[in-house]
Amino acid sequence: MALCRMDDLMIQARKQGIALGAFECWDSLNIQGIAQAAAKCKTPVIFQATAMEYTPIGGAEALACMVNFYIKRYDIDAALHLDHGNNLEQVDECLKAGFSSVMLDASIMSFEDNARLSAEAAKMAHAYNASCEAELGHVGGGDGGEGTESVLTVPEEAEEFVRRTNVDCLAVAIGTVHGDYKGKPELRLDRLAAIADKVSLPLVLHGGSGTPPELLQEAIRLGIAKINIYTDINKAFLAGIEDARSRLTPSLAGNFYVPVREALIAKTEELIKLFRRGQ
Ligand SMILES: [Zn+2]
Repeated sequence: MALCRMDDLMIQARKQGIALGAFECWDSLNIQGIAQAAAKCKTPVIFQATAMEYTPIGGAEALACMVNFYIKRYDIDAALHLDHGNNLEQVDECLKAGFSSVMLDASIMSFEDNARLSAEAAKMAHAYNASCEAELGHVGGGDGGEGTESVLTVPEEAEEFVRRTNVDCLAVAIGTVHGDYKGKPELRLDRLAAIADKVSLPLVLHGGSGTPPELLQEAIRLGIAKINIYTDINKAFLAGIEDARSRLTPSLAGNFYVPVREALIAKTEELIKLFRRGQ
C-alpha cells in the first residue's frame, strides 16, 4: 500500500468498471477521515487540493507529509493530486513536494494556449514519474453555482488535444458544475459517449457533488474514472462542526475532532460505495 500515480489507479478502476473518488483536502482531520473511509471500503482514493487549500496549512510539502503519514497509518493505496493548478509554478511546487499527479487548469484559455500549457505540465509531471490531468471545455460554476459559464467539451477537439499534450487523463465538461447546482442537473451523456469514442484515456468528472446517483452510474459506465468531490465533503465537515459545537468545553476543546471526523468518514464512505456500485 502506497502513494501511487493517479493514472495507474484510474486505469485499474476502469478495468473494474468503477470510478475513484477524488476528495478535496485541507487539513489533517479531513485527510484522516478520507483515509479511514478508503481503508474501510478497501478501495484506493485520490486526495487532492488547490493552492487555496494547501497554502494556509504550510504549503504543498506540509500537505504531502500529512497524506503520506495517513496512507501508511491506514495502509491504503492513494494518489495525491494538485487540483486546478493556476500556473506552472504551482505544478513545479507540488511535484517537488512529492505529489503523484498534477493538473494545470487552462480551460478558460484558447485551445492553443490550453494545449501548449498542458503539454508543458505533462512534461514536467512525467519527469517526476507523476501523472498529469488537463481540462478541455470548461466546467463552470463556483460557490452557490455562481462564477464562470460552462463550455461543453468537443469530442473531435479532445482527440487532438490528447495527442498534442501527452496528458494522462482528461477532465471533460458535460453539464456538471462546481458548487451547488442552480436547477435540475442535466448531464450530456451523449456528449460523454462521443468523447469516450475518440479518447482512450481515463476521463475525469469535475463537479460531482449533488449529481444524481443514476447519472453518475451512467457516466462511470461510459468512461469516467475519477469523480471530484468538494461541496459534499465541505458540507459534511460543516455539519460535523455544528454537531461538535455543543460538546466543546474549555477543558477539552479536542472533542471537536470526533464528530467532525465521523461526519467526514460517513460521507466519504457513502460516495466511494456509490462510485463502485457498478462493480
Ligand atoms: Zn474542478
